[in-house]
Amino acid sequence: VFLGPASSVVFGDYMSGTNHVLPTGGQARRQSGLSVTDFVRFSSYQELSAAAAARLAEATACLAEAEGLPAHAAAARAWLGGEAEAPEAVTRPDSDLGRALRKRPEYGELRLYEPGRRGCEIDLSDNTNLFGQAPAAARTLAEMGAAAMSRYPSVYADELKRAAAAYFGVAADCIATGCGSDDLIDSTIRAFCAPGDRVAYPDPTFSMIEPFARMNAAVPVRVRLADGFALDPDALVAAGGHISYVCRPNNPTGSLFAREAVEELAATAAGLVLIDEAYGDFCDEPLAAWAPQTDRVVVLRTLSKAFGLAGLRVGLAIGPPDLIAEIEKSRGPYKVGVAAAAAASAALREDAAWVAATAAEAAAVRERLRGELDALGLRTWPSAANFVLVAAPGADADGCARDMLAAGVGVRPFPGLAQAGDCLRVTVGPWPLMERFLAAVGELVPS
Ligand code: PMP
Repeated sequence: VFLGPASSVVFGDYMSGTNHVLPTGGQARRQSGLSVTDFVRFSSYQELSAAAAARLAEATACLAEAEGLPAHAAAARAWLGGEAEAPEAVTRPDSDLGRALRKRPEYGELRLYEPGRRGCEIDLSDNTNLFGQAPAAARTLAEMGAAAMSRYPSVYADELKRAAAAYFGVAADCIATGCGSDDLIDSTIRAFCAPGDRVAYPDPTFSMIEPFARMNAAVPVRVRLADGFALDPDALVAAGGHISYVCRPNNPTGSLFAREAVEELAATAAGLVLIDEAYGDFCDEPLAAWAPQTDRVVVLRTLSKAFGLAGLRVGLAIGPPDLIAEIEKSRGPYKVGVAAAAAASAALREDAAWVAATAAEAAAVRERLRGELDALGLRTWPSAANFVLVAAPGADADGCARDMLAAGVGVRPFPGLAQAGDCLRVTVGPWPLMERFLAAVGELVPS
């Protein structure tokens, strides 16, 4: 039984399973005993979306051709690349749907986010600012009256956009805001990818890009980083992403991809280039101000890291106004609350010097920490962010993270990381915290 405009005999034959009696090669003469299945009447239902038909078209056509059925092959290929418009969907009365609740098929592979954070004395697992929080944001929250709570915030956080525009030196219509930069990754994929489109990204990188692609029915495509965790723009372009995602500095490696490599990517990629600068305040050459001068680059920033405001959930997208407008359409209204918008605006206006000072302090601690880890015989990788990637003692990331948690120190394990093997990612913070970390990790180094 074929349901809906995209479901058809050709997909039924080659994908759902046959409804014909196939030749049995003479088997039927020897083995024709009855079984219970002979007394059961089965009905198969097939229901394809237009996007699913497009995905299955080539494989289906290949099977049809192998059977010498060119018309079947042509029927399948008619769905390729969305060339064939889906016919008007036939509306079926509710009773035809049955009672089985349908879930999105892509969601079968999705799991709830588990950052691995456990309550512990010293949490070095999430790259937040362990030196404190932007002081103007704290003042604004302390002074905020209860009356502010009862009204909706600005629909698209206009004041926050103006403060961010001044901070980055761009026009306010080059900025979109969101409930953390996660929200803007999600909105950007939704705005620029139709179901079945590709999101290409280097591996290893920020673990959330893959689930965000899947949540939006896009296809995640991983591309290996070149040696030394360097960006290979040609390889990324070859992956044909409707979006190419690049995290710079990269989480969890800490590497800062060369600006020229990102520029080459922007010059040659067919789709949108999304540069995640969650750790951009820690590096020397952020690209936020450059994005609006391009025709396809959007840079994401967050106030969760260097600004020390992760609990407020404020993210920013910076890019050409026509692209920013599309992101806002898919993001939806009222995503930044009154308190978050006011505190973040104050921080962007008044706390640039505080952010720069804590970023410099983090960089100094980071290099000192790498020196100490080196002395313990543990390999680290150069980092331009507020964390360090370190080879797990005994090459057992999960075991090390568990043992360190028992000692009151939380770190993020990365088992089997491409190019690096089992690693731990450690957030940089005031030196006494680093000493606790060094003591805990030192216990695990085989003597
Ligand atoms: N991008 C990267 C690279 C991150 O590491 C994180 C936080 N772990 C995010 C985005 C999300 O940050 P936010 O709190 O702004 O949603």
